Amino acid sequence: MQLDGTVVLVTGGGSGLGAGTARHFASQGAKVAILDFNVDGAKAVAEVIGGIALQADVSDEAAVGAAFDAATAHFGAAPRIAVNCAGVGMAARIVGREGKLSFDVFEKTLRVNLFGTYNVMSHAAKRMMELDPLADNERGVIINTASVAFEDGQLGQAAYAASKGAIASMCLPAARELARSGIRVMAIAPGLFHTPMMEGLPEEVAAQITANIPFPARLGDAHEYALLAEQIATNPFLNGTTIRLDGAVRLPPR
Ligand code: NAD
Repeated sequence: MQLDGTVVLVTGGGSGLGAGTARHFASQGAKVAILDFNVDGAKAVAEVIGGIALQADVSDEAAVGAAFDAATAHFGAAPRIAVNCAGVGMAARIVGREGKLSFDVFEKTLRVNLFGTYNVMSHAAKRMMELDPLADNERGVIINTASVAFEDGQLGQAAYAASKGAIASMCLPAARELARSGIRVMAIAPGLFHTPMMEGLPEEVAAQITANIPFPARLGDAHEYALLAEQIATNPFLNGTTIRLDGAVRLPPR
């Protein structure tokens, strides 16, 4: 599917990988709606690229439905491409110091990363099904964001890895289910990227992380994520799988 003239909804588009994708897709002629909890970030990106900013929590079913309706009304057509970048990356031990449990972290991480992705995917698919088919009978493309932690989750990442593992696992059944409607589903599993999520890490931790990346020996750039998202959107034979985008990094235990 070509990007030029196509309506795209990017969640988490107010920052990091989502913002990079929104910018790149707009530069290729896409009409971009940015859905983010942080509406100021979404507005800042939308203003630069001539898109619209929509405030919603991805895990709120009604709010996500309303955001899709608003994007459709604004652009005169429903999104044919949905890119799920909204996510949180909290770390916690299963049993922490002094026996502190972390069910709250597990619940929040799953709610945003997994339930939010599923929620946006559901709303996107429902609307894509109603669109006219394009070449190859294609109606839409859904791109979800996992993480290399879906395979090599580190100590403290039980919740995060579980949320990303589930995103990778649901890719194939979702692609199989939506195939009859001409909708493809893919997931990208980024390695370590330079975004505000990573900027929160202490310097020595960040340096240690970079030292583990074989080549190129640096953090990934949001534009590189956007280039893969573009390839997924435009290459009709990519479907039902998760692609690692990681400079060959394999995360160590800690
Ligand atoms: P980021 O923190 O820069 O951006 C995430 C965006 O999601 C923010 O704008 C935030 O406001 C939004 N968001 C958070 N919770 C939300 C909610 N409930 N509803 C709506 N919006 C919400 O993070 P990033 O680094 O760009 O990460 C994007 C995605 O990529 C995440 O799913 C993350 O887990 C994944 N990822 C990132 C890296 C990395 O190295 N940066 C690596 C692997 C996977």
